[in-house]
Amino acid sequence: MSVGLLAMLLVVGTSPAVEDQGAGNLERFEFRETHMGSEFKLLIYCTDRELASSAARSAFARIAFLDATLSDYKPDSELMRLSDQAGGPAVPVSPELFEVLARARSLSERTDGAFEPTINPVVKLWRRARRNRELPRPSQLKEALERVGWRDLVLNAEAQTVRLARPGMRLDVGGIAKGYASDAALEVLREAGISRALVAGAGDIVASEPPPGRSGWIVGIASLDAEEGATRFLSLRCQAVSTSGDTERFVEIDGVRYSHIVDPRTGLGLTDRSSVTVVAPDGTTSDSLATAISVLGPETGLELAEQTEGVEALIVTVGDGQNRYRVDQTSGFEALLARPLEQEEPVTSLGPPES
Ligand code: AMP
Ligand code: MG
Repeated sequence: MSVGLLAMLLVVGTSPAVEDQGAGNLERFEFRETHMGSEFKLLIYCTDRELASSAARSAFARIAFLDATLSDYKPDSELMRLSDQAGGPAVPVSPELFEVLARARSLSERTDGAFEPTINPVVKLWRRARRNRELPRPSQLKEALERVGWRDLVLNAEAQTVRLARPGMRLDVGGIAKGYASDAALEVLREAGISRALVAGAGDIVASEPPPGRSGWIVGIASLDAEEGATRFLSLRCQAVSTSGDTERFVEIDGVRYSHIVDPRTGLGLTDRSSVTVVAPDGTTSDSLATAISVLGPETGLELAEQTEGVEALIVTVGDGQNRYRVDQTSGFEALLARPLEQEEPVTSLGPPES
């Protein structure tokens, strides 16, 4: 698959030394495992190798559990079994599934359905389109869209039950699950006594306290032009960042490039090439907002980001002609950028392979 122009989160380094008492003899450890179709990377500062690896094992186990709960690829995941019961009565669900659906649904409400956790019937058509390199037929899209609608995702917080009110409805939390899983993994590390760590699942990164003696974790945002590499560097501390766009999964048919993110109003994969980066207090928020803002576009998207506590966003859109890129950002985004000195620190690639 050709990636060509792309933008993604891809680099992590550390910022320059600051006074930091009590950091002790912390060592840096790194662990990688593949879950949810992406490589997750854990960066951990810890005095003890044994503690670091046992904490990493627990964190990966948590991600694996959430994959088994939230996947829409695994036929026996809790989410799939719930979808199988659409049109039936309310179903008791795990606290994790309930929380993800509650967070997703509340964003649907805020975005008037731009973020749509019942988009699965349409997403499935686009997955097939990617395999066959053939557009879904309008009649198929129409039929699938009729089975979509977050208002018919009925949550009962007291009873911890979920009901999909119409037969044929199916859930898809692909736009929020990796951020949620990264948050959960960081929490596992914290419970193991590790306060300086970073969890990166491809385009979703969540960090706790910075490395010893540093003021932040440096995360690079690549330019939309693959050859340019990272052109902006964020310095993050107890924050999350996500990027969404058509860089990894898309299909090009008759010269038009369709993203894996679908506009629920039309059922079509997004065609306005953009990369959306969102910084937020947690990964569940950054992941879901990045997907939502991709659908909403720069104007409404930025408005949404400005209105959300602790959130900043950067939207890069491929333009025509002379102005190759249009850049929009929230008023506080600039303040998150690392100082030039910090950018000289060694960096590591985190994004998907550029092939
Ligand atoms: P992300 O990479 O976080 O932007 O998520 C993209 C994934 O979210 C897709 O692969 C779908 O599983 C799902 N998705 C696609 N369109 C939407 C949408 N409009 N609202 C919510 N989730 C979506
Ligand atoms: Mg997302």
